[in-house]
Amino acid sequence: MIYNTIIIGGGPAGLMAANVFEKNKASYMLLEKNEKCGKKLLLTGGRRCNVTNHLSVRDFIDTLTFKHKKFLYHALTTFGSKDVIDFFNVHGLELVLENGFKYFPKTEKSLSVLESLTKDLNPNNIMYQQAVKEIHQEEGLFKVVTKTDVFYTNHVIVAVGSNSFPSTGSSGDGLVFAKHLGVEYKDFTPAETHIYSDEIKSQYKELQGVSLTQRKVSIKNMKITYQGDLLFTHFGLSGPVIMHLAEFIYDDILNQEKSVLEFSLVDVSDDEMLRSILSDSHLFIHKKLEDFTTKRIIDVILTNLNITTKKIAEMKKSDVMLIVNKLTHFQISIDKVEDKEKAYVNKGGIDVKALNPKSMEVKHIKNLYFVGETTDLHGPIGGYNITIALSTGHLAATHILGHS
Ligand SMILES: Cc1cc2nc3c(=O)[nH]c(=O)nc-3n(C[C@H](O)[C@H](O)[C@H](O)COP(=O)(O)OP(=O)(O)OC[C@H]3O[C@@H](n4cnc5c(N)ncnc54)[C@H](O)[C@@H]3O)c2cc1C
Repeated sequence: MIYNTIIIGGGPAGLMAANVFEKNKASYMLLEKNEKCGKKLLLTGGRRCNVTNHLSVRDFIDTLTFKHKKFLYHALTTFGSKDVIDFFNVHGLELVLENGFKYFPKTEKSLSVLESLTKDLNPNNIMYQQAVKEIHQEEGLFKVVTKTDVFYTNHVIVAVGSNSFPSTGSSGDGLVFAKHLGVEYKDFTPAETHIYSDEIKSQYKELQGVSLTQRKVSIKNMKITYQGDLLFTHFGLSGPVIMHLAEFIYDDILNQEKSVLEFSLVDVSDDEMLRSILSDSHLFIHKKLEDFTTKRIIDVILTNLNITTKKIAEMKKSDVMLIVNKLTHFQISIDKVEDKEKAYVNKGGIDVKALNPKSMEVKHIKNLYFVGETTDLHGPIGGYNITIALSTGHLAATHILGHS
């Protein structure tokens, strides 16, 4: 038997492609490595799944961090955030806007997102425990080989994800296929994840558990700044702003061995803080600092600077300035970014130069498509990645049907 299309991988990208075929009553077969689809999808957004966000296509693309981001323009204008929301509505799942930015299912369960993506799929069109090992081109067809079977097909959509969280099935097979078929790719590296700091573990242990809201965090060597919430952990730093910066910190560490981050521990400028401290010179420094931050942070900073508390009037101005500088321009060195296998999202994958942005088809291999996180397209926290997976999966299937 020759299939019209084989979709490899049942994550959001592959499942969306399958939905397009079902809607158009087109034949296809989805091969999934696991005993069920969407294992990673179930983990997303703390098991609540941040499906998409409220951004326009232009703003969505503007926020992305990589140079070739305009590649996504066609996919997102064809099937973007609004279409994602409509899709789930039509499939009986309301998405609710949270904090004016992220959409989550009203049920607060990623399982309902998976159920909506699978409810219209004919179970006969999905085969489980079919880990694809090889894809060959043979006499105008593709030969797709799994451990137990061989399939022949006119089209292939590769939707196997990256290699983050390999226990979910996404173990980097897209690059194995690309290498064999001569499709250009970039190795996966961690993009959205936590970072490790020996300095925090040794000198700032007491800051563990401290969270700071809407901090502007800069990577010193790179002149890159992002704003967002941040958390001191037992191993280093985490939180949305760190997740956003992790891919750059990774590059910085590759070049410099360490990366230095700078952010403020307080919500006032250095000038303002200095003026305020000097105008209350009758107070003890530690008491005055409570106007700006918590006792815990003050104790850590004074200990770190080896400054014992006394009345401000009795202190050297240089010591006051040291404290102000430490609190407003706190610097910390980072030794390691979490491994790509433990990162939420990875950078790298099929080089978009090899793909047609209007179809996701490989330019030099007709009828072969790569979609979702297995391609070199990723976004920060905020529903970007699932949207990219759904949008590119939709585009490839629509193209195969001759609709795009
Ligand atoms: C903990 C966590 C939380 C996240 N939270 C969010 C969030 O809230 N919002 C968001 O937008 N993004 C989030 N992400 C990222 C998001 O989950 C991924 O970007 C998205 O799932 C990628 O979809 P995909 O379909 O391309 O690949 P995947 O979801 O990785 O699916 C790939 C599928 O292919 C199968 N497969 C792999 N190799 C083979 C093979 N050789 N043969 C057959 N099948 C194969 C896998 O088993 C899997 O089912 C999160 C990621 C993690 C790890």
